Amino acid sequence: MSPTDSSAAAPAPALLTVRGLQKSFGSNQVLKSVDLTVARGQVLALIGPSGSGKTTVLRCLNGLEIADGGTIEIVGAEDATHAPVVIDFAPAHGKRAGVPKKALGTLRDRSAMVFQHYNLFPHKTVLENVMEGPVVVQRRPRAEVEAEALQLLDRVGLGDKRDSYPFELSGGQQQRVGIVRALALRPTLLLFDEPTSALDPELVGDVLRLIKELAGEGWTMVIVTHELEFAREVATEVAFVDGGTIVEHGDPKELLRNPQHERTRQFLHRLL
Ligand code: ADP
Repeated sequence: MSPTDSSAAAPAPALLTVRGLQKSFGSNQVLKSVDLTVARGQVLALIGPSGSGKTTVLRCLNGLEIADGGTIEIVGAEDATHAPVVIDFAPAHGKRAGVPKKALGTLRDRSAMVFQHYNLFPHKTVLENVMEGPVVVQRRPRAEVEAEALQLLDRVGLGDKRDSYPFELSGGQQQRVGIVRALALRPTLLLFDEPTSALDPELVGDVLRLIKELAGEGWTMVIVTHELEFAREVATEVAFVDGGTIVEHGDPKELLRNPQHERTRQFLHRLL
């Protein structure tokens, strides 16, 4: 490396940049102004009390909810589709601007969500659940999608469950299907909404191990979790959300050991 080569010191470029994100439900302003940045390959854990707006942040990132203020910028895969897309939710001249459909479509395409309650289609088999999004929404060739889906199911030890229905699986197996379904969409950003909180305690470990493996492979993730030990171990950054804002964020070990804000202290005190 030459002395002028500063690449080693340069921070990884942001894959996701959120500025001033706002969302209200009726008169209830759930997100007041959320700012966050996630670099490629980083794992951001969102922690905070129930009702603080964590799930709403994820749903806005995935376009499941349409924010009513702020911007979301998301980069594509490391290939020809790399170009960042900025979605501006700012109201224009006091009226709703109307978010461009194409930008919203790109946001939905680049991120994939893993839900707390798995949200699998009950009347579809495991394989059909995994193939639905890539085939129907992304319009990719069925044969290619099927081959990739089977490979992913094998990878998580569920190859032999391809023809089972969700009700025939344990919660942990259903959640692993939920994760495979998200991966099959080939997103740039994985979103996890309390992925283990509906599981029996003995099934939590398997799912956390899988998420940790994915983090180790370089997937970029935002995870809402109450599993502080997991956040400490796997996340590269933790953000404490309260009252619709990020109260503080930083290095997981540092923030969890030495929170700077009283609200964070109180929250952690109740959990630890
Ligand atoms: P958290 O994930 O931190 O528990 P949420 O984002 O789920 O918090 O919820 C934050 C607040 O937004 C809560 O008061 C919740 O009732 C409200 N909320 C969330 N989704 C909706 C919705 N679709 N309609 C009305 N209120 C909602």
